Amino acid sequence: MGAEMLSSTRLFPQEVEVTMMTKPVKPTQVFYNAKIITLDQTHPEAEAMALEGDQILAVGTNEKIKALAGEETETHDLEGQVVIPGFNDSHMHLINLGQGMDGVDLTKARSISDLVRLGQEYVDKNPDHAWILGRGFNDETFETKALPTKADLDQISKTQPVFFTRVCGHICVANSKALQMARLDTTTPNPAGGGLDREMKTGEPTGVLRENAIDLVRSLIPSPTIDDLKRVIRIASQAAASLGLTSVQSNDLHGTRTLINRLEAYGQLAESGELPIRVELQSTMSTPEELKTYLEVRKTHPTLGTKVTLGPLKLFTDGSLGGRTAALTHPYADDPTTSGMAIFTQEELDELVLMAAHANLQVAIHAIGDRAMDMVMDSYEKAKAAEPGWTARPRIIHAQITRYDQLERMARLGIVCDIQPIFVPTDLHFVESRVGLESSKYSYAWKTMKELGIHTAGGSDCPVESCNPLWGMHAAITRQ
Ligand SMILES: [Zn+2]
Repeated sequence: MGAEMLSSTRLFPQEVEVTMMTKPVKPTQVFYNAKIITLDQTHPEAEAMALEGDQILAVGTNEKIKALAGEETETHDLEGQVVIPGFNDSHMHLINLGQGMDGVDLTKARSISDLVRLGQEYVDKNPDHAWILGRGFNDETFETKALPTKADLDQISKTQPVFFTRVCGHICVANSKALQMARLDTTTPNPAGGGLDREMKTGEPTGVLRENAIDLVRSLIPSPTIDDLKRVIRIASQAAASLGLTSVQSNDLHGTRTLINRLEAYGQLAESGELPIRVELQSTMSTPEELKTYLEVRKTHPTLGTKVTLGPLKLFTDGSLGGRTAALTHPYADDPTTSGMAIFTQEELDELVLMAAHANLQVAIHAIGDRAMDMVMDSYEKAKAAEPGWTARPRIIHAQITRYDQLERMARLGIVCDIQPIFVPTDLHFVESRVGLESSKYSYAWKTMKELGIHTAGGSDCPVESCNPLWGMHAAITRQ
C-alpha cells in the first residue's frame, strides 16, 4: 500500500478512453460491470478490463472492452464489485511470519488446557518434527492468569523438545526434554540479563525462561534447511497474497551466516514459479565486514528471477517504545532514568552508510526515537556530500517520534519514510505518557509529512502486526 492509494476513493467520471497496447491478440479474459480503480490520473476509473494471461491489455467502458472479446475469451460479470491494483508492504518479515504459521499457533489459546490441546493436535499432524515450536500465547487472556510450565508441555510430548514463545517474545516455556537437552537444572545460574523461574522448594527450573535465559534453549534449535525455508516462505507469501498484497519488501536477510541458504531458498521458489507475490529482500548487515561480503554476494547474484530482487541495506539504530529502548533526545517521561539506546555510534553508522552509498546501494534504517532520527539524517547528509553519485533514495523505517525540524530536514534530504499506520491503535494508549506531550505532538505525523512533500510508503512490520493492508489504511485514515 502507498500513500497515493488513500486518495483513490474519490468518484471520477465514468466515461474512460480505452487504453490498449497495439498487440494483435484477443483477450483471454474480460471482466465487466466493475468499478476499476486504475490510479492512472488520466483515466482514474474504468468499468471493464481485458486480460491476456496475467497481463492487463486494456481498461475502459463495458461497451468498448466487451467488443474486444473473441470466441475463446472468458467473460466475467463482476456485478459492480471494486477492482484495485495490488498492494505493496514496504517493510515486513516473511520468514518470521511463515515460521510462526508453520509452528503451533497459540494466539487462540484461552487457558493452559487450550494450549496443551493445540500442541497435542499439532504433534498428531506433524509426528516427524524434531522440535515442536509454538508462538503467540498470552496468559493475560487466560481464564486463570498463570504461565504454563514444563509439566503442562510434557503432556504434549515427552520425547520431542517443546518450546513455546509468549506473544511478547520476551518469555518462553520449555518442556522437560528441551530443558534436559540444554542441561538446565538446579545448578544452572541465571545468565546476565535473564532468568529461569524455579520451584520454591527444590529450585528446579519450572520451564519458564525470561529474556537472555531464552537463548539457553533456543540456541539448540537447528537452523532451518533450504527446504524448511522454502516451506515457510511459501505459506507466508500465500497468506500475503490472500490479503491483496502483490509485492512486499521483506527483511529476511540477517548477517552473512544464513545469507546463502536464504538466497537459495528464494531463488529456487522464484525459479519454480511458486511465489505468488514479488519480493524485494531487505538485508541487515551490521558490520563493515558483513556489508563487504554482502556487496560481493550482490555482484555474484545479480538476479534471482523475475519475482525476487535484492533491495536495500537495512540497519537498526535504536530499539522500541514498548521496551523504552527507542533513542530519544530527552529522558522518557515515565522513566527519567533512561532516554533509550543507540545501537551504533555516529562514526559506526557513518561508515556503513558511506560504504553503501559508495556502491550506490539504497539504505533503509530503523529509527523510532528522535535521537536515532538525528543520527540517521547526519549519516545520510554526510554520505550524500561524499558520494554525489548516490542516487538511491535514503529511507527511514518507522520514523515515529519526530520533531518538526526533523520533518523539514527529511523533506530537504529527499528521505522516504516507511510508516506503519497499524502501530497506531496499539501505541496510541501509551505514547503521550511515555515520551511526553511535547514529543508526541509531531509524532506519527504522516499528514504533516505529506504536506511537506515527504514520500511515505505504508507497511506492517508483520508479524509484529497483521499485514492486512486494509487494516493499515483504516488506521492511517481514522488513527484508530
Ligand atoms: Zn521490522
